[in-house]
Amino acid sequence: MHKVMILGTGPSGLTAAIYLARANMKPVVIEGPEPGGQLTTTTDVENFPGFPEGILGPELMDNMRKQAERFGAQFKQGWVDKVDLSQRPFRVHVDSLGELEAESLVISTGASAKLLGIPGEKENMGQGVSTCATCDGFFYRDKKIIVVGGGDSAMEEANFLTKFASNVHIVHRREELRASKIMQDRAKENPKISWGLNRVPMEVVTKDGGGVKGLKVKNKETGAEELLEADGIFVAIGHHPNTGFLEGQLKTNELGYIEVIPGTARTSVEGVFACGDVQDHVYRQAITAAGTGCMAAMDCEKYLEGASVGDWSQSL
Ligand code: NAP
Repeated sequence: MHKVMILGTGPSGLTAAIYLARANMKPVVIEGPEPGGQLTTTTDVENFPGFPEGILGPELMDNMRKQAERFGAQFKQGWVDKVDLSQRPFRVHVDSLGELEAESLVISTGASAKLLGIPGEKENMGQGVSTCATCDGFFYRDKKIIVVGGGDSAMEEANFLTKFASNVHIVHRREELRASKIMQDRAKENPKISWGLNRVPMEVVTKDGGGVKGLKVKNKETGAEELLEADGIFVAIGHHPNTGFLEGQLKTNELGYIEVIPGTARTSVEGVFACGDVQDHVYRQAITAAGTGCMAAMDCEKYLEGASVGDWSQSL
């Protein structure tokens, strides 16, 4: 039986692993099919403090992993397909390892950006296609950008991207936007934003020598196919937290993100902690994920040592 298992190896899980390993809690970290999480799909990370010249996303994650290993965190590869939080110790079923037992759990399985699923999208991810304006907007100074989506995320990303881009064209598959009125108004008032409504994305088109040329869309009004030229395409059609394996055993909010007691990493089940994007749909940054990973580790350490962490049932 393990004292603590950490599920997920993004910045939050690895930070929790560093802290718990240094506290001699011998964490076992389950590393899924996308080790390192979303940061491994970006190139330069320029806003993680401590790297004045920036650092490549995969390198940053590799460094965090090495740091956790240095203090004795143990990594196991596999996909967590089921957990049982109704009994102690908790049961965690990993496809490649079978059933494991743990006294406590840190859940850091992250969130995944929803993708369009069109040709050229995955192939050009990080090379002209992005799902994160905060991460990659800076690389599109004075360039033309397309933002896909009609929700608040798309409006927010489009507005943010006008700080860099010469023009941001919002492509949405319907006439009506899903975004709240205030966010729509803000985008409509922005002179750098133009609109491609009733356009269904079909393909990310690349140039002969490489690099994104634009987005092929279907015009729903005329039925014609159009090529909308752009240097970068930001897909902003939402995220989904990776919580399927929990099967509703932890309390989540209306968007499906795990709820934690404010100011802590404690979930609705005693001994289970959550950190990173799986419990945060607002900030979604590597640095905030790392911060909540540290909180989860410290809360978990206290729990394992039998110290009072306050009234567990409070607030949730
Ligand atoms: P969302 O509200 O679900 O909107 C997703 C948008 O993407 C919709 O317009 C949808 O089109 C479009 N879309 C989905 N799948 C698509 C596909 N395959 N092809 C083309 N378009 C597709 O997601 P969100 O914008 O990420 O917002 C999620 C939640 O976070 C919301 O509650 C939102 O209010 C909140 N949020 C708030 C703020 C803020 O207040 N500052 C910022 C960001 C997010 P349809 O409309 O046709 O379905």
